[in-house]
Amino acid sequence: MANSRFEYVKQFEYSDNLLPNTWIVVRVDGRGFSKLCAKYNFEKPNDRRAIDLMNAAAKAVVTELPDITIAYGVSDEYSFVLHKTCTLFERRASKLITTIASTFTSYYVHLWSTYFPDTPLSPPLPSFDGRAVCYPSVQNLRDYMSHINNLYNTTFWSLIKLGGFDAKEAEKFLAGTFSADKNEILFSKFKINYNNEPEMYKKGSVVVRDYELVEPGSHNVAETIDNVAEPVKQSKTQDENDRKRRNKASVVVDHLDIIKDDFWDRRPWLLS
Ligand code: ATP
Ligand code: ATP
Ligand code: MG
Ligand code: MG
Ligand code: MG
Ligand code: MG
Ligand code: MG
Repeated sequence: MANSRFEYVKQFEYSDNLLPNTWIVVRVDGRGFSKLCAKYNFEKPNDRRAIDLMNAAAKAVVTELPDITIAYGVSDEYSFVLHKTCTLFERRASKLITTIASTFTSYYVHLWSTYFPDTPLSPPLPSFDGRAVCYPSVQNLRDYMSHINNLYNTTFWSLIKLGGFDAKEAEKFLAGTFSADKNEILFSKFKINYNNEPEMYKKGSVVVRDYELVEPGSHNVAETIDNVAEPVKQSKTQDENDRKRRNKASVVVDHLDIIKDDFWDRRPWLLS
């Protein structure tokens, strides 16, 4: 196309490079999964097979894209975090979102039969939408990660299964409620203490590289937080070697508390 009279058509494309030096989160979310759950008889509110499948697809995405430092999922959504220094696809939003969403979808479909051996997929096939959001500080990123939880889901399905609500009524009932309200609804109506729910459902799933953990207290925690103190600088070659070793580390799925400092303190490379 170069040097032809058609070359100008490229100019209709717009640039969508995401803001430099910000943490990029690409979140994928299952399209119409309320219907898909019904079609394949997912157990409510948490079908273990479906969660394992989401986790397996996310693990494959993180393995294929070493630029992703951590991923976190609940329900039919997964958030993939790209380091603020990431330059993959020159940080073009559409390339990042479509690559992650389509890789995720491919693996979800590919791995379906492993988790649902007796239930073949049929059209309409599962698909995932995606979006990218930039968070300018570590605090913003951690707040974003902390806000995702399974409390809405648990309360919604308790209202339906134990409270006799239909889906519309439950949605309306929960509109505008805060976490404290949902905890209160669960306890007062159904005597459910959300804290006692199984870890996997309550905490969601984290996908990270299984890399050396730092013992708490062996480094200055403040160093990992933006705007507090400059981390002790090591040489570029040392940084590069560390990065290579991390990229080689195996990718694992776990159910850990990502709200507390401990998770991040033990993995300072995630945020530094
Ligand atoms: P949209 O296309 O707008 O995302 P949706 O129907 O997927 O529509 P969501 O808000 O994403 O709407 O809700 C996802 C639905 O899938 C919820 O009802 C949730 O309970 C259900 N779901 C997701 N994962 C599981 C699971 N592992 N077990 C049971 N239900 C699940
Ligand atoms: P849209 O996709 O059209 O922008 P939406 O209402 O589906 O609209 P999302 O951006 O997909 O909004 O969801 C925003 C966040 O709100 C998600 O991270 C999710 O944690 C929370 N959320 C929204 N709907 C639900 C739900 N039904 N159950 C649990 N969490 C929800
Ligand atoms: Mg949505
Ligand atoms: Mg939604
Ligand atoms: Mg969905
Ligand atoms: Mg969802
Ligand atoms: Mg091409």
